[in-house]
Amino acid sequence: MPRVYFKPVKSHSGVEVVNGASREVLTKLIEEENISLEKFIPLKVHMGEKGNRTYIKPENFNSIIDYMEEKKINSSFIETNVLYRGQRMTREAHVKTGKEHGFTRIPIVIADGENGEDFKNVIINKKHFKKCKIAKKIADVNQLIVLSHFKGHILAGFGGAVKQLAMGCAARGGKLDQHANSKPIIIPFMCRTCGVCRTHCPVDAITIKKWAKIDKDICIGCSSCQAVCPHNAITSNWFQTFSMSFNERLAEYALAAAKDKNNIYVSFALDITAGCDCEGHPMIPINGDIGIFASTDPIAIDKACLDKLRPDVKLLFWRGIRTLTYGEKIGLGSKNYDLVNL
Ligand code: SF4
Ligand code: SF4
Repeated sequence: MPRVYFKPVKSHSGVEVVNGASREVLTKLIEEENISLEKFIPLKVHMGEKGNRTYIKPENFNSIIDYMEEKKINSSFIETNVLYRGQRMTREAHVKTGKEHGFTRIPIVIADGENGEDFKNVIINKKHFKKCKIAKKIADVNQLIVLSHFKGHILAGFGGAVKQLAMGCAARGGKLDQHANSKPIIIPFMCRTCGVCRTHCPVDAITIKKWAKIDKDICIGCSSCQAVCPHNAITSNWFQTFSMSFNERLAEYALAAAKDKNNIYVSFALDITAGCDCEGHPMIPINGDIGIFASTDPIAIDKACLDKLRPDVKLLFWRGIRTLTYGEKIGLGSKNYDLVNL
């Protein structure tokens, strides 16, 4: 059974406490599990959409970078271009946003090139995908330290290590593959025709007359409009949502991203918001801070984070359990784990 190392952190503890906890879980994991470390290990991060305030700030990763320097391991922050309109859609804009958000201590590498065109097809031969488009500079390395912010996600239920692998390591075309079956719908009587959704749609699928309308043939199901609508007038298409397809697609992409890698997962269950760090607006956390987790198993670490949530928040994140259940079925990891309290 995989082990998950856990150090609790109280809300508002500050950056020194977080660094102490992350260093402790990381070193304990490496020592206890006898993990061999490569000479170059990128840190998979999410640098936060412009306007978001609850992504994990880079100063919280200092003790992990210190550890790598002590071990003479070269590193970089590594990320991929996003699907939706925003400040992280191209390599240039993404690096600029990362630097503005303080990701300056080590280089930033955008793993799928200038516009998402650099990827490798990783063969998995599963139900939804035979092969997955994984960002080239991620596919090329043997080991990643996957640093995840555990929080909610409008489509996935929650985002943690598995989602960091699935969406976070996919080239733009791979993100599109995963979203292909999740097109939202407009609730006409709630729409105030403000046009915010149209501004954020990356493929111009929205027109606005008496109310906003989505052209289903153009929509790529990225869910950006749903995240930004200030009047909650856009909702998931629950028929498609209940098909479980999106969660299964995520799990298959995560399997591809982790294939043949000796990864380490460190998850920060702090500033736990209902929405994800791709949402370019401030959000208020809905659960107190929990702490830092480390494991070699992406499913076990997500399940351990989930199990520490307040029951009402856990209920809100329930859809994500489908990703873990299917991920376990296809060999990504285990929902059963031993928690090692530090
Ligand atoms: S953002 Fe929401 S309220 Fe504004 S036009 Fe779009 S659906 Fe309507
Ligand atoms: S209409 Fe479709 S493509 Fe456009 S923002 Fe909404 S989900 Fe994305």
